[in-house]
Amino acid sequence: MRQGTGCGLRAASQIALAALALAGCARQAATPDVASGARPSADEFVAQVNAELKPILREVAAADWTQATDITLDTQLLSARANDRYLEYLGAATERAMAYADAPGTAATKRGLMLLKLQTSAPAPSDPAKRAELTEILASLGAMYGEGKYCPSGPDSCRNLDQLSETLATNRDYKALEDAWVGWHDTARPMRPKYQRFVELANEGAREFGFADLGAMWRSGYDMPPDEFAAETARLWGQVKPLYNDMQCYARGRLAKRYGEDRVPAGKPIPAHLLGNMWAQTWNRIYDDILKPYPNASIESADRELAKQKWDAVRMTKSAETFYTSIGFPALPQTFWERSMLVRPRDREVVCHASAWDMDDANDVRIKMCMRPNEEDLFTIYHELGHIYYYLWYNDLPLLFQNGAHDGFHEAIGDTVNLSVTPEYLHRIGLVSAVKPSREAVINQQMKMASEKIAFLPFGKVIDEWRWKVFAGEIKPEHYNEAWWQLRTQYQGVRPPVARTEADFDPGAKYHVPGNTPYTRYFLSFIIQFQFQKALCETAGYKGPLHECSIFGNKAAGEKFAAMLKLGQSEPWQDTLEKLTGTRQMDASAILEYFAPLQQWFKEQNKGQVCGW
Ligand SMILES: [Zn+2]
Repeated sequence: MRQGTGCGLRAASQIALAALALAGCARQAATPDVASGARPSADEFVAQVNAELKPILREVAAADWTQATDITLDTQLLSARANDRYLEYLGAATERAMAYADAPGTAATKRGLMLLKLQTSAPAPSDPAKRAELTEILASLGAMYGEGKYCPSGPDSCRNLDQLSETLATNRDYKALEDAWVGWHDTARPMRPKYQRFVELANEGAREFGFADLGAMWRSGYDMPPDEFAAETARLWGQVKPLYNDMQCYARGRLAKRYGEDRVPAGKPIPAHLLGNMWAQTWNRIYDDILKPYPNASIESADRELAKQKWDAVRMTKSAETFYTSIGFPALPQTFWERSMLVRPRDREVVCHASAWDMDDANDVRIKMCMRPNEEDLFTIYHELGHIYYYLWYNDLPLLFQNGAHDGFHEAIGDTVNLSVTPEYLHRIGLVSAVKPSREAVINQQMKMASEKIAFLPFGKVIDEWRWKVFAGEIKPEHYNEAWWQLRTQYQGVRPPVARTEADFDPGAKYHVPGNTPYTRYFLSFIIQFQFQKALCETAGYKGPLHECSIFGNKAAGEKFAAMLKLGQSEPWQDTLEKLTGTRQMDASAILEYFAPLQQWFKEQNKGQVCGW
């Protein structure tokens, strides 16, 4: 699953998501004493922050990297210490920044001040007791999620999320799936009172920062008023909803054949445990045996050749690098090869979850991954290098601008490149046989893509839809679960497999809720990556259907891509987007164009079906 492949903005966010949320109000600043005499001007202050953040973040990156690639008591302690120092600094700097709200300064300074305030996903209240309470709640929510286990009959029967997810992906027994689904979701029950308190405290912190509530603060990171941003996401969802509804209808028909009309009735939401994923957020694990339209028009996966030709992690990474250099990007620095962790080490515990790291503001960039020679990991390394090249292109900017144009951009870069990893391209690099063109093969390929890219869209939207309403007080604690399912049903067209009550806390069964990571970025990324691809293909002079375009080898497209990446977050994303695509709006027409053959096919397939729910 590509959007799950980690990849922090900075190394710090890998480990310290929960801790980061607390930045904002530490009193004992690590800032040098600018005491006695004149306060620095706004320009000077921002320049100072940019300079001071460098060594602090360098140390955080070193500590976190060491911790993630060698998990011990000691490395965890050192990483926590480094992150504490960073948060302390950030808190003090943010507080000092408040004094510059109306101070004169350059446009870059004003932007720097705005971005500094948004470095955290939840500022704590300034009251030290409340701040400590918030720290404790977030740490404990994170631990509850990480340690969640389903133990139906004693300690020997325990299964963790990985194991339960594997059941969801591979088992096809209705009751076994239900058991795994309920088992996992019930682990989140004890989170409810803690989450309720978290909402109160984080909202208080957000208000101290001048935002209406935490949801409004999150929506303020998009260079437009928060309400306008909410309307934008609703507009984008409206664009893709008809395609999703067609796909939901088709999938429901297929699932009814497998599990029976009584369990999956027409015109109703789909039971959420049948789609191959704990949250029904991607459906690729039921592609092969349930969703695949034409079993005999198989699209070959690269798995066989990768094994046969004995590709190793370095060769897979070189292959990805070759794609990027083919469009004119530089070769990866020598230190990338010396310092990355590309395979699971034999002698120590590591965090295997794939991620891309920006260690300093020069060119120390690294990948941490436990690569195996299969197609999924090949796509993942192409994706991760998207982050790496973003880091390399924007590393000359002031530190506060070293980020994606908005948070959806960072995830979209490598995904855009993966859209160019077409069956034709894979043939060209010797990993699949020549593609025999047929409508059946195209539809199969599109369905496989859609099981990730289209199936995900309503889920990408719904998580923050729920949280925005929770933070705004529109969803009261006594309706947390009911509202969660009302929204999931409304957007995804799924329902819980068994009745749920307010004793449950199903939102907590998804990492990003207890982890307090905003989620709209993934929704946006899935929309804009197609917009990027369309613009790049046009620059490359490509004329065919969008789903067959690969920009491999095209320097003009690469130059335009790089021009965007170099800007980081230095200007409003609308300006950055315009330079690549010629438009200032995010727009779903490219993803619709890409999947036009599939949508046409859905229309034929769904004729006479009772669609909707
Ligand atoms: Zn990523």
